[in-house]
This record gives sequence, structure tokens and C-alpha cells, in this order.
Amino acid sequence: MQYTFASRMGKTPRSFIREILKVTERPEIISFAGGLPSPALFPVERLAETAKAVIMEDGPAALQYATTEGHLPLREWIAERYHSRLGMDVSPDEILITNGSQQSLDLIGKVFIDPGSRVAIERPGYLGAIQAFSLFEPEFLGVPLTEEGPDPAVLHAVLTDENPRIFYGVPNSQNPSGITWSIENRHRIAEEIQRSETILIEDDAYGELRFSGDQMPAMRSFLPDQTVMTGSFSKIIAPGMRMGWICAPHEIMEQIITAKQGTDLHSNILSQRIIARFLADYSIDEHISKITDAYAHQRDCMLAAIKEHFPEGVTCTRPEGGMFLWVTLPDRYSSTELFKRALAENVAILPGVPFYADGGGESTMRLNFSNASEEQIWEGISRLGKVLHQYLLAGTTVTNN
Ligand code: PMP
Repeated sequence: MQYTFASRMGKTPRSFIREILKVTERPEIISFAGGLPSPALFPVERLAETAKAVIMEDGPAALQYATTEGHLPLREWIAERYHSRLGMDVSPDEILITNGSQQSLDLIGKVFIDPGSRVAIERPGYLGAIQAFSLFEPEFLGVPLTEEGPDPAVLHAVLTDENPRIFYGVPNSQNPSGITWSIENRHRIAEEIQRSETILIEDDAYGELRFSGDQMPAMRSFLPDQTVMTGSFSKIIAPGMRMGWICAPHEIMEQIITAKQGTDLHSNILSQRIIARFLADYSIDEHISKITDAYAHQRDCMLAAIKEHFPEGVTCTRPEGGMFLWVTLPDRYSSTELFKRALAENVAILPGVPFYADGGGESTMRLNFSNASEEQIWEGISRLGKVLHQYLLAGTTVTNN
């Protein structure tokens, strides 16, 4: 049988991470390739108690169809959190609950992207956004990341010459690079966006996971009418709950609600009620500080191990939060080749190429520090260091296969 699929399917890359994770799931492998939060930090017992209370006490309301926008107490909590954490005035009407912020990206794609629409994205950019947006067949325009965030001069040229519909970025502890946009750069980017007709998509998946550095203002606070912000409970409660949200100006929200109705009517109401009650009954700040303490320690271990074991010429970022750091090999070397060599030593890394929507990135890789123990981090980085020394000494250069 010859199946005929929509042309968009041919233009969408299969998740490279999912493919790699299949290989790296073997128990003998120390994996820095995935993007999983630490399961030891999921509040299992509290969620079990909360789930039982929700089903027993809320009864059928927790199991019935619900509104598209989502459970009002949860939207109110999110609005209040924006106020207390970021000083932003957001109405619960500007918030819609999604089944994870990955769904937020899909809905944003539905609302903003036609085939051939221009989409500006950080370079490297979040792979899940590249995949979600690819289904709508855009033309991607890369904006290189510096240590301070997106290069404002390139953004200026892209906005002026190409007038993209959206510019997608992750200003706090970005996936994959770990970079946080500096305050100066936030102002520059905000000025550039303000001068344009482009909507900023501010993905704040990691804003609550900051271990060092200053709390930065949200880009939305400079551009309230020109920003769609996304958030997630995945990294601060548990990703399996599949709960995230979109915060958007009213006119955009109307379109998102229509798109959401066509997709799934509404987000899982049982999960929404469990999370709302969990947030009401327990201190999320206490829980988040447990997570940030643990991840800060894991990041520090990884940085110390890298310093000790990696050869000169290999550089890495020093993230202020999140779950990843980003390694750059000297120009001529390929992280895909390194991936193969490291796997032979039972260590998995994630080559950087798929994070470049418009090509490039051969000499870069992402390392996840949230999912491995301190012992695994030291052992894995030490093995990776040996592989790197051998690879760099051998002087092998990038190949195309
Ligand atoms: N945005 C970014 C930047 C992410 O790293 C992730 C998770 N890897 C997501 C969105 C999606 O998260 P979720 O759907 O679990 O909320």
C-alpha cells in the first residue's frame, strides 16, 4: 500500500532526542543526552494524597468536560505568581492551561504560522519548538546566541529584512545552551521587537529553576502587547502531569482558544485540579528550593569534572539555572563523531546539530546535569574526557556521514 501523507510530515524532523534515548536507555550507559528532571524530586506522596482528595471531594467535577481556558483557581494562581515573582500584572483571562508547554508551542504554531511564514529562532534553539513549528512549514531564520543572549544586530537585520511573524526564544537558562539573556540584552531585544510587527514568543520553562545570578525581568514586562509567554509545571512538579500554560494578550488568546478547541477541547481537568490543590496545600517555594539546591550541586559537579577532565580548547557555558550546559569543541571536530565514540565507552551526549533550525552546529553538544547522580557525573565526564583527549589528539576532522 502506498500511503499519501500531508506534505508537512515530510518537512518535520522526527524527534532526534527520542531516537537517541532509545539507544541510551541501556542500564550500563551514563546518559547526559536526555532532558529529564530528577525523579527523586517528584513529590510522589503528596501528589498521591492530593489526587485522592481531588477525586473524593471534587467528585464528578474532576472527571467531567471542562472549559477550554482551564480551571480558574489554577489560572488565578499563575497570574498571582507572575505578580509576586516578576511584578507583572496579568489577568487570569490572559492565561490558558495547556497539556504541557509543548502543546502551547503547537497552538502558537497553529495561530501564527502559514506555510512559508518566517519564524525567527535562537541558534541553537529548543528542538521541541523547531519540531512543533516545522509542522506548519515555516521558513526558519536563525538568530545566533552570544553569552548575553540573541545577537541584537542580527535580530535587527532579521526583523528589518524579513519581517518574521514570530521570534521564539528561551530567555532563562535556555534549552539547549543554558544561557540566560543579560539585562542589557533584554532591553536591546525589547527595543528591536517593539520597532517591528513581530510577536515575541517567550518560553519560560526554566524561569523558576534559577540557582545563581539575578532574577531577570520577563521580556513580557517590556512588551505586554507583543509577547506570548509560555510556562510549565513540568520542571517544578512533574512532567508526567502534562500541565503548562500560555499567557497572551486578549486578541491573541481568542485565536488560541479556537485552536485549542479544535485540538482537544480542554486540558486534562483532573491534572489541573490536582495541581491547583497541591499548590494550595503545600509550599511550592520550599519544593522549588529543594530542586534548585540539588540541581545547583549537580551543575557544580559537572563543571568541576569538566574542568578536571576535558582537554584545552573545549569550552562550556556556566548556566545560572535549568538542566543543561552547552559544550563547544574546536571548530573542526564533530560532536556526532564524539557521540559514537562516547557511546562505545557507555556515555551518551546529545550532538548539537538538531538544535540549529537552519543548519550548522557540528562542533557543539548538550549535556544534561539534572538526571545523573554526583557519582555518575564524575564517572561519565571522566570517561568523556578520555574520549575527547583521544579524539582531539587523533586530529580527526568533521565528516559528512
Ligand atoms: N520548552 C522548553 C524550553 C523545554 O525545554 C521543554 C521541555 N524539554 C518544553 C518547552 C516542553 O515542556 P512541557 O511540555 O513538559 O511543559
